[in-house]
Amino acid sequence: MKKVISIAHICLFVTIYSCAQQGNKMDFEKYEPISNLVVPEHKLTRAKFPFIDVHNHQWDMGNQDLKNLVTDMDKLNMAVMINLSGGNGNGLKKMTDNVKKNYPRRFIVFANINFSGIGETGWTEKAVQQLEEDVRQGANGLKIFKDLGLSVKDNKGKRVTVDDERLDAIWEKAGQLKIPVLIHTADPKPFWDPVDEKNERWLEITTHPGRKRGPNDPAPWETLIEEQHRMFKKHSSTTFIAAHFGWYPNDLTKLGTLLDAMPNVNVEFGAVIAELGRQPRAAKKFFEKYQDRIMFGKDSWAPEEYATYFRVLETEDEYFPYHKKYHAFWRMYGIGLPDDILKKVYYKNALRIIPHIDKTLFPG
Ligand SMILES: [Zn+2]
Repeated sequence: MKKVISIAHICLFVTIYSCAQQGNKMDFEKYEPISNLVVPEHKLTRAKFPFIDVHNHQWDMGNQDLKNLVTDMDKLNMAVMINLSGGNGNGLKKMTDNVKKNYPRRFIVFANINFSGIGETGWTEKAVQQLEEDVRQGANGLKIFKDLGLSVKDNKGKRVTVDDERLDAIWEKAGQLKIPVLIHTADPKPFWDPVDEKNERWLEITTHPGRKRGPNDPAPWETLIEEQHRMFKKHSSTTFIAAHFGWYPNDLTKLGTLLDAMPNVNVEFGAVIAELGRQPRAAKKFFEKYQDRIMFGKDSWAPEEYATYFRVLETEDEYFPYHKKYHAFWRMYGIGLPDDILKKVYYKNALRIIPHIDKTLFPG
């Protein structure tokens, strides 16, 4: 019998071969295997206790219909939202007016500093006066964005560091006014590292190239973080909240050492829950030891993403997915915090640190 290798056979062979080739070279973003693990699951869409989100941004709160926002908050059991994007002056007043008129118990607004013109004569005095005025208009805290340290320049074009002396009077004033300063300095350290196969944020930098930094863009990561710590230490009677676990969520031993050295500093875990969810045992020890210093923060307002936070904090679930691959290509494990610590993290610490939150919204 004569063997014939037809065109069809060759085509079939080529197809199988190229599929195998493609299979070996599957795109990292595409690879999403379904876990075969069968373990108890507790998908939480609502926090166990009413909570305060200390790190939220509502940029247009002055014009916003707050009813929809409150409906979404109620679904999550979020009793109070702290809007860190209050701005200052008239813009801030419009926001606090809207809140007072419609939902005075559900929102707290933080002011921001306008850094333009820093270095000009009288800039510091004006900024301090503005802060006092903003607090009179209903601001209950000050939020400093990461542009300070990264991109804010003075009137001579020089980078303004977080510990710049021209800002000292602002930090002191916040202390006198008994309002906390929530401050975000620098960004995750891997943004400063080479963008290669060893970088855990490779996907984030590749999909968001603007986030890449370097030793001269504008300074080494360590330099920026040390500037922040020097400022914290210099203003020991002002209460600070270091956003995003002070960018040490990956090194809780180091963060603990810092909190020990700076009793005026607290932390919130906005955008870094994936770091805690991959080290549930170390995280639990950290929460036990620093239970009076940690607050609930989320940062971006995406209501469906809060489920991951609740699940990491409240359950002992294992190997469950995070909601953004560029933050975490790994899976989460629940820390399983006991109720007494959960209550502190969800609301008790914020009630102590941030003024004028209505205590009657929370269990005793
Ligand atoms: Zn933020």
